[in-house]
Amino acid sequence: MSTVDKLSAAARSKQLGAVEDGGIVRCDACPVLCRIRPGRAGACDRYANRDGHLVRVDPVLLLEKAIDTGSDLVAFSNTEWKGNLLDPKRTFVTGVGAGTTYPDYKPAPFIVSAEHDGVDTVTVVTEGIFSYCGVKVKIDTDRHLGPETAAVRASGEQVGHVTTAEYGSQMLSIGGVRHLTGGSKKEGTVTCETLLSLCAGEPVTLAIDGGHEVVVQAGRAPLVDGQPERRMRVGCGSATVGIFARQWLGHVDEVIVVDDHITGVLTEHQAGRVLDMPPAGIRVRGRRSTPGRYFQVAKPGLGWGGTDIADPLQIVQRIDPKVARPGLRLLMTSTTGEDALYCVLDESLVPVAAEMPEAVRRVVERIGENCEPSLCTVLFVAGAGGSLRAGVTENPVLLTRSVAAGETRVTMGGAPVYVWPGGGITVMVDVARMPRGSFGYVPTPALVAPIEFTLPAALYERLGGHTGDAVSIAEMLAAVAPDARIEAWRGDNPWPFKPGPFKPGPFEPGPFEPGNGAKR
Ligand code: SF4
Repeated sequence: MSTVDKLSAAARSKQLGAVEDGGIVRCDACPVLCRIRPGRAGACDRYANRDGHLVRVDPVLLLEKAIDTGSDLVAFSNTEWKGNLLDPKRTFVTGVGAGTTYPDYKPAPFIVSAEHDGVDTVTVVTEGIFSYCGVKVKIDTDRHLGPETAAVRASGEQVGHVTTAEYGSQMLSIGGVRHLTGGSKKEGTVTCETLLSLCAGEPVTLAIDGGHEVVVQAGRAPLVDGQPERRMRVGCGSATVGIFARQWLGHVDEVIVVDDHITGVLTEHQAGRVLDMPPAGIRVRGRRSTPGRYFQVAKPGLGWGGTDIADPLQIVQRIDPKVARPGLRLLMTSTTGEDALYCVLDESLVPVAAEMPEAVRRVVERIGENCEPSLCTVLFVAGAGGSLRAGVTENPVLLTRSVAAGETRVTMGGAPVYVWPGGGITVMVDVARMPRGSFGYVPTPALVAPIEFTLPAALYERLGGHTGDAVSIAEMLAAVAPDARIEAWRGDNPWPFKPGPFKPGPFEPGPFEPGNGAKR
């Protein structure tokens, strides 16, 4: 019998499946309702039939915070638990390995009461089954991965799309209910597998229609068509001109920063004008936005500055003989400094490549120095505003309102979440801040992820919470700690019991008035 079930057997044995003939146990932890033979696991590999008992295969995860001395936290010698008694005041029960409930009117697997800083608190702990879920992937590169809205595929199945690019990053939206359940069975299965791998921090190969192949892994640099990306651009071409204009002054007569978004031309740009740089007479292709800032100088691609060009002189439309002069010094660079060309105009005003002077090289290198490492970031987005709330309270809308008001703190595996304003409980969490092994799945298909709601006990009672099912943290630890997985609390995650977490947040929806956007 697992740690979870030791406690559950005493407190809530009614939740643990049903025994049928032949020692078969029917799992009731999700709508699939697997009939599990002795010694076998269910379809999701999370539950098994052990000696006629339904057990959660993975141990529950407890996180113990280091001792707070008032000034510094006393660090653990390592993250392994040494068998010492856990301090209830420094232990957080996560939803990892806690188990799910179905149907959701049953109380959540753990409702843990504890006292922190003189406040009686309750943490409701469960593994949520998320039908509405997906990930947003931020890929720090200016290289063109594919057109906006293009299909993103894994194993040939569409699992998402290219969404709006952000500053210096390409963005993908992967998963979501339409791919999980709105298409073919194979599309749903591949989408679920892709989400699981991304959330587990594993590398995933994605192919973009009309674009390129990219290998994405949370916390790692992307591989674009097999090439590792190294640098995130320092800014757009205009920003790069603005940042480094003064450092170029006196060393070059013109700088063109090639960028798929905005290509910057120093002497036309406000930065060059303020520095009294005379016009160089070099006109670049594309659509002029404002002085010294050009859109669409080339097509998007994997070349210089996220364009499709390999020779930057291709974007020079003309050189005005009335303004330019022989001997004019021209620098062309990308926004990462990885590509740079120094030229001098000859007697015919043709740019001729020349050795880059040391002073110019130093500034190009400084562009590179100011680039942050290129990374992939994976944020899990899910809706917890559905029936999961019934495991917390008999009146779910009160939980929704309490979360929106900032009175109830939501965490996932102890990691802080961003709760979207407005209706429902739509949360977003950085998977890199969650413990390993946080995610699972059920074959409906849907993802399973830990979620915890922490709030004052008095408030929990007012919300119609399942107070009769609460167990003290001491009782909980006595029952589960010997077999639990125990790790150190991540110091960069806020402690859910920190004094003051239950103050109302900035979003306090008022009564509905047409046009005010509030949903109640
Ligand atoms: S898929 Fe997993 S949780 Fe669902 S019924 Fe089967 S064993 Fe239980």
